[in-house]
Amino acid sequence: MAIAPWSSTNSYSEKLGLGCAGCELGLRQTDPMPEGHTIHRLARLLNASLAGSPVQASSPQGRFAEGAERLDELTLLSAQAWGKYLFCEFDSGDVLHVHLGLIGKFRSRKAPIPDPVGQVRLRLQNEAIAWDLSGPTRCELMSPSEQEQIVARLGADPLRSDADVPAAQAKFAASRQAVGALVLDQSVIAGIGNVYRAELLFLCGIHPARQSNSVTESEFALLWSETVRLLRIGERMGRIVTTDPAEIGATRSRMKSEDRLYAYHRKTCKRCGSNIEVLKIGGRPIWFCPSCQPA
Ligand SMILES: [Zn+2]
Repeated sequence: MAIAPWSSTNSYSEKLGLGCAGCELGLRQTDPMPEGHTIHRLARLLNASLAGSPVQASSPQGRFAEGAERLDELTLLSAQAWGKYLFCEFDSGDVLHVHLGLIGKFRSRKAPIPDPVGQVRLRLQNEAIAWDLSGPTRCELMSPSEQEQIVARLGADPLRSDADVPAAQAKFAASRQAVGALVLDQSVIAGIGNVYRAELLFLCGIHPARQSNSVTESEFALLWSETVRLLRIGERMGRIVTTDPAEIGATRSRMKSEDRLYAYHRKTCKRCGSNIEVLKIGGRPIWFCPSCQPA
């Protein structure tokens, strides 16, 4: 398998469909922010390619020189994802915390390993592979207790077996915020970003402006199970695909980019053909189908 966890974000650099309702509002055509699936995939690939033996660490750009020097020749014990946060635990007890933010990338380079290209904050490598981190929002060393403090603030992670689902459900029941805002709140569900938000509410038939406490138990159960299902697909494929292969008439890996989503950044609903509408909820645009997601 080719190690290319960022193929998903690259694919979102493409235009999705012929145009979108959001473009009329002057919104960006792309939304490359990594969501939980990309971080979990990255953790899995880092574990498979780097964990268990000493790694060489360097900061080609120089901005993480001290941290890289501390990590150099340490053994990576485990890379862990919590929502959109990545923690790499080393045998010294040091924890490398990485948050990619909007534009961060962690790309692999296979042997023969080329020189770093561009502003590489951190390179972790062994003889077979190098991982180059560029543009992260956070790249820092911390202690395990500091890691615990960050994790304690995060909500249920759909890709973790220890996800506290009842706690997430209780937050929905107690909130008068719009559902569209709450699903993006990382302290409620950790790992959903703007693409999955729109697609999940579409698949559950939930209007994004509905109050969270109006979501019924069965609606929440569906929302959670769909979140787990879709993020697992995304983690496996390295890209976000939410449409049903039977509905599209192609396997997920063979779908064209304009067939992979139902509502996000589209002009018309992939399922019913209605015009897609856009609202700004939780500080970001959300695309929804007024027919499939009635108020
Ligand atoms: Zn529709």
